[in-house]
Amino acid sequence: MVDFALSDEQRAVRDWVRTFVERELVPLEPEVLRRERSGEPGITREESRALQLKARESGFWGILTPEEYGGMGLGAITASLLEAELGRTFVPFRFGGAADNILFHGNSQQKERYLLPTIEGERISCFAITEPGAGSDARAIRTSARRDGDHWVINGEKTFITQGNEADFVMVFAVAEEGVTCFLVDRDMGWKSEPIQTMGQWGPAALVFDDVRVPAENVLGEVGGGFALALQWIGQGRYLLPSRAIGSCERLIEMAVAQANSRTTFGEPLAERQAIQWMVADSVVELQALRLLVLHAAWQVEAGHDSRQAQSIAKLYGGVKANEIVDRVLQIHGGMGYTRELPIERWYRELRLLRIYEGTDEIQRRTIARNVLKGHVPVSAQF
Ligand SMILES: Cc1cc2nc3c(=O)[nH]c(=O)nc-3n(C[C@H](O)[C@H](O)[C@H](O)COP(=O)(O)OP(=O)(O)OC[C@H]3O[C@@H](n4cnc5c(N)ncnc54)[C@H](O)[C@@H]3O)c2cc1C
Repeated sequence: MVDFALSDEQRAVRDWVRTFVERELVPLEPEVLRRERSGEPGITREESRALQLKARESGFWGILTPEEYGGMGLGAITASLLEAELGRTFVPFRFGGAADNILFHGNSQQKERYLLPTIEGERISCFAITEPGAGSDARAIRTSARRDGDHWVINGEKTFITQGNEADFVMVFAVAEEGVTCFLVDRDMGWKSEPIQTMGQWGPAALVFDDVRVPAENVLGEVGGGFALALQWIGQGRYLLPSRAIGSCERLIEMAVAQANSRTTFGEPLAERQAIQWMVADSVVELQALRLLVLHAAWQVEAGHDSRQAQSIAKLYGGVKANEIVDRVLQIHGGMGYTRELPIERWYRELRLLRIYEGTDEIQRRTIARNVLKGHVPVSAQF
């Protein structure tokens, strides 16, 4: 049976988030744009926290966090629908109560010190594998970890680390004699961060480890078992990145429709021109295809299937098509689309990142092609 209907719970969650976005986030958009354009963060940590706590009053806390840790423990399909609703605004917001999946592998002491405060929003984490000399080829990392009695000494440099400027601790991957190992390292153990200016609003950081001494009990998982953890972190929710793009594309296409209907050139609305109609049609078709690819990937995750191929397909298609869609929407707005009076250029810059982080387009294609060429995944339908 193929059933495209949502469950009552899925519909209820989606509708609640849609209302939350319309009432609480969309009204902040002009102020977020104004602040960002004067070089400030669009939303402060306190404002974000206040919104998270407001959502918590209605039970929206820890979307994917298991119930035993105080979360909602929702399935991947519901999480994807929810993420799409959040994507309908560019106001940077996430529900509270979340923590990196690999922190759940910590021992009880590590859970107490790192996992639980991160879920509560009292501590901020960051994940650091990329280095100036190793991005797509993550196995080429050089940051080193040398054992010294009951400590490890870490040396090296990480780059493009999301939340690296704000984080209280880092999950850093370094090469020990036994292999790549993950360490939980508090900022006050001595690592330094430096902001990196980007074309988007979420400025990552460069991190420097200069003889940073880390107690042996801060190894996450097994010594030498870090690479598996890194893959698990990266693979945790690849479908969620294009999920957010779905909402953004919906908003953008709605803007294009309004513009096409209201703007007149040569005596007729733009909506009457085939050139414009085709841009709208292609965008609507690709958005629908993206929705189905994302939901299929989320369904595989929820069903416990091997979802790697489906997630790579959804991530690749989402990155490429969201960028084509925002470009068309900008084109339909003409000169106004290029200005900072409208938020289209902001979305344009933000969506560009989707083709780069958590596996570039080329790396997704490499994965997809390899899976098929080596016979790991059949070309026929995966239902
Ligand atoms: C805003 C932002 C946030 C980020 N957040 C984090 C974070 O929190 N933690 C973290 O660890 N990293 C983070 N990253 C790093 C990100 O994951 C890497 O930038 C990404 O994996 C690409 O690596 P690279 O930049 O070194 O590019 P490279 O690996 O040098 O690739 C350069 C180009 O070559 C292509 N290429 C590479 N190998 C191949 C191949 N075999 N075949 C064909 N083409 C290839 C790539 O697709 C790309 O187009 C972030 C990056 C950005 C920009």
